[in-house]
Amino acid sequence: MRIGIVASEAVPFAKTGGLADVAGTLFKVFREMGNETYLFLPFYKTVKNVGNTRNAGTISVKIGSQDMEGNIIVQDEENGAVIFIEQDYYFNRDNLYGTKEGDYPDNAERFGFFDIAVLKAIEKLNLNLDVLHLNDWQSGLIPLFIKDSGMKIGTLFTIHNLGYQGNFEQGILDLLHINRKYFTMEGCEFYGNVSFLKSGIVYSDYISTVSPTYAKEIQTPEYGVGMDGILRKRKDRLIGILNGIDYSAWNPSTDGMIYQNYTLSEITKKKINKEKLAEELKFEISDKPLFGMVSRLAGQKGVDILTDALKDFLKEDVKVVILGTGEKALEDALTELSALYPDKLKALIKFDNTLAHKIYAASDFFMMPSKYEPCGLGQLIALKYGAVPVVRETGGLKDTIDNYNEYTHCGNGFSFEEYSGKALLETLKKANNAYRDRKVYDSIQTIGMLCDFSWGRSAETYLKLFEKIKALP
Ligand code: ADP
Repeated sequence: MRIGIVASEAVPFAKTGGLADVAGTLFKVFREMGNETYLFLPFYKTVKNVGNTRNAGTISVKIGSQDMEGNIIVQDEENGAVIFIEQDYYFNRDNLYGTKEGDYPDNAERFGFFDIAVLKAIEKLNLNLDVLHLNDWQSGLIPLFIKDSGMKIGTLFTIHNLGYQGNFEQGILDLLHINRKYFTMEGCEFYGNVSFLKSGIVYSDYISTVSPTYAKEIQTPEYGVGMDGILRKRKDRLIGILNGIDYSAWNPSTDGMIYQNYTLSEITKKKINKEKLAEELKFEISDKPLFGMVSRLAGQKGVDILTDALKDFLKEDVKVVILGTGEKALEDALTELSALYPDKLKALIKFDNTLAHKIYAASDFFMMPSKYEPCGLGQLIALKYGAVPVVRETGGLKDTIDNYNEYTHCGNGFSFEEYSGKALLETLKKANNAYRDRKVYDSIQTIGMLCDFSWGRSAETYLKLFEKIKALP
């Protein structure tokens, strides 16, 4: 197969969330499985020093009445290449999508340019791709442009989070020279705006999302964010493929970022990570159960019910460490709570990958009370590190975490259904009780550490789907 992956972020080049892990890992895995694969990314400021690149030519995209030039920067890899689209006016900025004050006002133009530039680069380099794997709204116009130009290339559009839709004012149609015939309810029009995400849903050959449960949920009004109708219409072409994680990056036995490596058979060594984290954070933990969390602080992540639940839970003999950044109100709420309970809660408001690894390694439990969760990587990492997940039963969390059953003693974590501080609090208390009964806790932790969520099976499913797409008339 000759595959192109288009994403707005991918490890190790640029990352703000799980999409980066998925795109970067699939690029590696598809090539390892013998498929010529190309990864398309904007050439962001933070990526510019990657090295080992060559300039493979220029492209020009008409934006309004202007010709915007760009460079195709290639980093060759075994069985493929990373292809960066360089356009400094659009991409040589401090951040990927915006600043603390909000999104960059020209994101529609930036990613519209990117989408057209990717297709021009594919033609210019004669890549002859069988399938383009598009990810999230930033690449959502590509299926429309393919349809419009008659290019022969199959498309899979993957939704990593339906909450981010790339909806913009109509003016973008003229700026990108998109024929108004596509601006209909059956097309890319969405409540009077142009929706990049809807364009991806409507014009791609297949649609996927990152867990089977989320694939079902997004067809309902509760989780559909206005797109449920159009998704139901295309349900025969919509599938859920669970994300995996890259165990070469996330493995407590080899992780160079944690204080002490450990395995299931030497699990007692794990507690050295707790002791050292306490030292580093100047936060006394000793033998108390440590509840960790590493997350974007966004409404989606359940931070509101978490702060609610913590107000009571912090009265118990427990310790909580939360690492996250995001919406200011949620950051402030956690900071305020930690000021009330300074010896119980440490709120670390920043993005810090090394510290994230240390928290997974140190924690006895890992909290993800998400309102919705397309797949979630945090709980998968937590399982591997022996931090027992406490999650809400939604999306990928539901597909990967089985609530501990006190009668059968099955389960790799704790989960609850109702989205409320009360339900979360009850579950946290249950988890805390289990911690006091070592036999129960050890068994849940062991089952979790033995789970295998590596990419192999999911990558096979993607490849089978690509074959199907390639065979479409
Ligand atoms: P999402 O993609 O919605 O943000 P996921 O659980 O799929 O959520 O992926 C989040 C990834 O980002 C995980 O690898 C997590 O460890 C990491 N992460 C989130 N917030 C931070 C942070 N503040 N510092 C370091 N890593 C973080």
